[in-house]
Amino acid sequence: MNYISTRGKSAPQDFAQVLLAGLAPDGGLYMPAAWPQFSRAELAQFRGRPYADSAFEVLKRLASNAFSDDELREDIEAAYADFDNADIAPLVELDAAPGTYLLELFHGPTLAFKDIAMQVLGRLFARALAKRGGRATILAATSGDTGSAAIAALGGLPNIDVFIMHPKDRVSEVQRLQMTTSPHANVHNIAVEGTFDDAQSIVKQLFAQKAFARGVNLTAVNSINFARIAAQAVYYFTAAAELGEPATFVVPTGNFGDVFAGEAAMRMGLSVAQLVVATNANDILARALDEGVYASGEARPTLSPSMDIQVASNFERALFEASGRDSEWIAEAMAQFAESGSLELPSSVLDALRERYAAHATGDEETLEAIRFVYETEDRLIDPHTAVAYAAAQPFIADGGPVVILSTAHPAKFPQAVERATGVEPDLPERLKGLYEGEERYDVLPAEAGEIRRYILDRLAQL
Ligand SMILES: *Cc1c(COP(=O)(O)O)cnc(C)c1O
Repeated sequence: MNYISTRGKSAPQDFAQVLLAGLAPDGGLYMPAAWPQFSRAELAQFRGRPYADSAFEVLKRLASNAFSDDELREDIEAAYADFDNADIAPLVELDAAPGTYLLELFHGPTLAFKDIAMQVLGRLFARALAKRGGRATILAATSGDTGSAAIAALGGLPNIDVFIMHPKDRVSEVQRLQMTTSPHANVHNIAVEGTFDDAQSIVKQLFAQKAFARGVNLTAVNSINFARIAAQAVYYFTAAAELGEPATFVVPTGNFGDVFAGEAAMRMGLSVAQLVVATNANDILARALDEGVYASGEARPTLSPSMDIQVASNFERALFEASGRDSEWIAEAMAQFAESGSLELPSSVLDALRERYAAHATGDEETLEAIRFVYETEDRLIDPHTAVAYAAAQPFIADGGPVVILSTAHPAKFPQAVERATGVEPDLPERLKGLYEGEERYDVLPAEAGEIRRYILDRLAQL
């Protein structure tokens, strides 16, 4: 499978090159030149088989020209060996709401769904880098969970340096500690004095500085990296096969990576009733789908910090497909959005998006109510991101047909919100017990691309 850029001005690349590059040189995002197709019989086979086998079947179609079957199998098996649930992504039906399910995606090392893709990506990345030779510098902006998942997957690997920017004081304490207590010398944490969007914008600016980017072999492992989308598509296939009929998937959404993985599964042949984009008060995506204007505002801190995002990078992938893969329009539209912070969606694009996506925004009060309600009716604690999706799911539950709520984080990752809603402090799972004893390492820097560039060059010079 070859990959093309949404903006149409970069040469096609194979999966390993896409993995190592992250962003395309023309500023666009990589997409498969054509989507591989699963037949109905093949889709049914996702039922009841070990999760790693399902992941292999999906990744094989997308990565076969870059890695052998044996390489893929080895890395995928290793990626899921350390999860604390043998099903990896178990589907749990709610007692008080039959036909409504939680898809638990938080059984990996850092307790959020990011592990599911990052554990695979880290291993394949190291393999691709060893084949290519040389070093790589990974730069990521995180709203909290990508950073810890990337550090868990890439900390201590040879020839890779990992620079993670998180917005200072805007991630939960558990999230911060998971990043800053890493013992590995190749991990460099930066608390940026700004928002997630500021940090993400610095990533984009530094990628655009071609000489710098080439000089340090700059790479992105956030959800703009197609390898993550590929690995996240897997649980849509496994959940749908288990249910045996088309479901509505409700997805807590920030950067649009996870919900786009659902579109990817659909484009590979999966029948899905609807993809519901569940956002918190940072509702740019809900407004874009409702009103047809994609316009960013000021990012507001909420109880679901991993979704405190105004500019959803992966939305470009959905726009690319919705426009009939019109890369010329995408390049113009993205340039306009970058300049003015606003983009009016043509009606043909909006109609195509609405065929697949619905959206709902939920405020903090309603989020707390959802956590409380699920605790009272199910005797189960859910995290605030899952709660945002739970609230968004309600009208779809009334419609009939299975509804799958993606449960993207373990409640212990956001204990303050959970305790505020229920009066109960969630137990920290065994693997996080030592977290509060670890020594923290991070530097505080202004949200300014030049400062970050200088910091990276200084750190690399000390190697
Ligand atoms: C990252 C994250 C999200 C949002 O996922 P996107 O792919 O950025 O849309 C939702 N919930 C949790 C817990 C996350 O860590």
